[in-house]
Order: sequence, then structure tokens, then C-alpha cells
Amino acid sequence: MNAKIKIIYIAGYGFSGSTLLERMIAAHPQIVGCGETHNLLHDFYINETCSCGASLTTCPHWKNVYTKYLKNKNSINNLNVFSVIAEDENPQVLYFCDSSKTTLGNMMRPYSLAKKYDLTLIHLSRNGVDCLHSVLKRSTNSSSLIKSSMVAIHWSMANLTAYAFKFFKSSAYYKITYEDLIKNPNKQISEVYRFLNATSQNKLKSFNQKSTIPRTHQLSGNAMRRVEDLVLNRTSKTDKKQTFLLLPSLIFKILSFPIYKLMGY
Ligand SMILES: [Zn+2]
Repeated sequence: MNAKIKIIYIAGYGFSGSTLLERMIAAHPQIVGCGETHNLLHDFYINETCSCGASLTTCPHWKNVYTKYLKNKNSINNLNVFSVIAEDENPQVLYFCDSSKTTLGNMMRPYSLAKKYDLTLIHLSRNGVDCLHSVLKRSTNSSSLIKSSMVAIHWSMANLTAYAFKFFKSSAYYKITYEDLIKNPNKQISEVYRFLNATSQNKLKSFNQKSTIPRTHQLSGNAMRRVEDLVLNRTSKTDKKQTFLLLPSLIFKILSFPIYKLMGY
């Protein structure tokens, strides 16, 4: 039965738009976005609210899984969760999406899930200099040079691990960049649906810069997952070029080369 469960795994580094991409993909009526499910047990433990706004006991997607968890806490973990979800899920659902990425601690996750399920990996990359910029904007302590080196190493490892899936199961690897997604959302998402063989629905949402993106059922992830009327051009506005330190950017490029080149930047 597990072999029939289809998972979309969003891989790559953080600060690359994975929460946004998952919401956009899950705008498809037969795809459910589950968020960063590697964090599932923690979310259940703290009784997290689903991004749809409902509690775990009332969310139509999570309530049965959560009830089973409360009955037997050892019966569910962050790998078998999709089998448990599928037991009660609407049979019309084609895919469950996991946006745990391939950052440190999750590098092997898509490979482990692929042994259990029919997994398609979507490798989302974003220019690491822009990711670094997002990290530095948020950080208050530690030197920006140390931060730049750390981001360069983690960005390279996360993207390389995602890229390597191509050699593990080439037919289930798909690459998309944040830059293309923002520039041409409708084309990019349509191509993802085509790759997933999920185009039979005739009422698929089309995206433009002013489209609102519906919420899905993400537990962990970026706070953006809870924003009700998320508008695409508002999310990309914050990424507009700002004065950026030359040295951190240079350190990033030196340390992440040649992965930086391999990713097409
Ligand atoms: Zn929900």
C-alpha cells in the first residue's frame, strides 16, 4: 500500500521560498501541503495549530492522525506519518507534500522517505547570496563573517544533497529556482504539475503577481504559512536589492564555489 502513496519532497536550503512553493503547489485540489513534517512529533507535543487556522483536533487533514497519536504516541513518527495520513485521507488526493528541505539534519530525509513511498523530489534553489542576505538581516549576534562562512557551507551541502537525488532516481528529480518562480509563477507551477502528472483537473488555479495563494495544512515552517491572503508580489518585494556588504558576499562565493556555479549562479 505504501508504494502507492505519493510524496512531493521540497529539497534545498532554507530562506529559498520552500513554504511559498509548497503553498503554490498545494493550491492544486488533489495535493495537500503538510509543511516541515520532520518536526511532526514536536508539533504534536506542543499541540501546534495548523496553518489552515484550525487546531490539530479539528483540522480536516490532521485530526485523525492526531487522534491516533494521542491513543498511542509510539505509533507515529516523522517517516511513517504519510501512511497514517493516507489511511483516512480523501482518496481523490494524489500527493502529500513535505517541505522539510535538505538542510543539516534533513539531508538524508528524502532518501529515507523514497525507500518507503513513491517520492518526487523538487529541488528548489535560490541564489545563495540572497539567502545569506536574509540570514544576516535576521541575525543579531556573531560576526557576519562567521555567519557568511556557515551559510556558504550549509547552502552548498543542502543544494548538493538535493542535486544528488538526480543520480539516485533521475525520473523523480525536478529542479526549480526561486528566481524563476517569482518571475513567472504560472509557467513554473504549470510545469511542476505537468511533471507530477497532475494536470487532469480542469479547474487549476492560475497564478500571476497579484494572485492570492490559498493556505494549506502546513505545521512547521515559515510564519508565512499562516498568512491568509498571501499575495505573491508582496512576498517578493522584501527581497528587493538592498545595500549589501561586499565582504560577506565575497566570502560566500569563494566558499560555495563550485556548487554556486553548478546551481547556475
Ligand atoms: Zn489544517
